[in-house]
Amino acid sequence: MSDYRINTKCVQSGYRPKNGEPHVLPIYQSTTFNYTSSDFMGRLFDLEESGYFYTRLANPTNDSVAAKICDLEGGYAAMLTSSGQAANFYAIFNICEAGGHIVSATNIYGGTYNLFGHTIEKMGIGCTFVNPDDPASEIEKAFQDNTRALFAETLTNPAVSVLDIEKLAKIAHDHGVPLIVDNTFATPVNCRPFEWGADIVTHSTTKYMDGHALQVGGVVVDSGNFDWEKYGDKYPMLTTPDETYHGIVYTKKFGKGAYITKMTAQLMRDLGSIPSPMNAFLLNVGLDTLALRMERHCENAQKVAEYLSTSDKVAWVRYPGLPGDKYYELAQKYMPNGTCGVIAFGIKGGRDACVRAMDKLKMAGICTHVADARTMVLHPASHTHRQLSEQELVEAGVAPDLIRLSVGIEDVEDIIADLEQAMND
Ligand SMILES: *Cc1c(COP(=O)(O)O)cnc(C)c1O
Repeated sequence: MSDYRINTKCVQSGYRPKNGEPHVLPIYQSTTFNYTSSDFMGRLFDLEESGYFYTRLANPTNDSVAAKICDLEGGYAAMLTSSGQAANFYAIFNICEAGGHIVSATNIYGGTYNLFGHTIEKMGIGCTFVNPDDPASEIEKAFQDNTRALFAETLTNPAVSVLDIEKLAKIAHDHGVPLIVDNTFATPVNCRPFEWGADIVTHSTTKYMDGHALQVGGVVVDSGNFDWEKYGDKYPMLTTPDETYHGIVYTKKFGKGAYITKMTAQLMRDLGSIPSPMNAFLLNVGLDTLALRMERHCENAQKVAEYLSTSDKVAWVRYPGLPGDKYYELAQKYMPNGTCGVIAFGIKGGRDACVRAMDKLKMAGICTHVADARTMVLHPASHTHRQLSEQELVEAGVAPDLIRLSVGIEDVEDIIADLEQAMND
């Protein structure tokens, strides 16, 4: 599939029916799979044979959808998870255990900020947050001997800042660790981080990939490019025998597939954040139209951002597609066809004026969601990020008057009219 273009991949990658098989990816809604030979099943457990035996470890519906996303990103292997949170946790925990440390961009999704800033600490993993816009020499100060990964978002949620992926990849590689990038907002339609040096990509598939707000899900995709053996002393979990799997050495046995195989065989086995096949099926239906939808999201958001930037009710607008935006040049470089449908803006009159206008919206809903077909708004300081302190809000790039507007695929004239009437007192 890898020679096809992106629209084609959205539709054709993953499930490829053979003669007489269903046209549409079937939902294998089954916990387990039957065998006629006890010995064969034993070899499955030893990873000596490939085959399905229990859906927590692998399921044909889930695998087909993972394969489609892997192809979209240009990766080597991928694994679906039950949420974006699980994807980011697995991506880190697969290579960073108690006593380890990661460096993460500070302006990331609130849930990931909590995970890295608080929860993994309880597992003995440290995290130092950095501003990814700082010069490399500044970011490098955060690295320690026990640092195992650098993490950032290509387009941040909610402030839509654009990551200089090449810069971050170089910093990570200079320190012998992989760059892990959450590519949820850009999607592989608009940006493929592996082409710029990222090693591992994660997604909350709950957002644009699904696009209809039908399921919560995540995915981890590995480029297969990071040389774990070169830094074997840092990644013994991949380069020395796994006693819980009869002494398998993942890098020796699976080569470029080592990272994802370990994640499936060990983390999914023990932590079990697998999506239901039904949810993977729904995600796949969304993926079929991902490229089409992203085009419309970007076209609409560009017009809405232009409208907001000329409105006298609006205090500020952040959209990387606006010439003059702080991230315009980076967006042109990494996402020349558009970024996403999310705009961050503030209304004159501060926090209270923002909340008042949001309550007056007729079409757009107030939702703890983002990036689906319907236009919606959220006030992060009151909603998703309300658990963060004032200081943490600033570090996360969330101004108290920031409204996160997720522009949908409706007629743009209707979206603008709704915003206009809401902001007019
Ligand atoms: C929503 C989101 C997540 C978390 O994903 P869930 O599917 O809600 O668990 C992680 N990263 C980004 C950028 C997100 O937008």
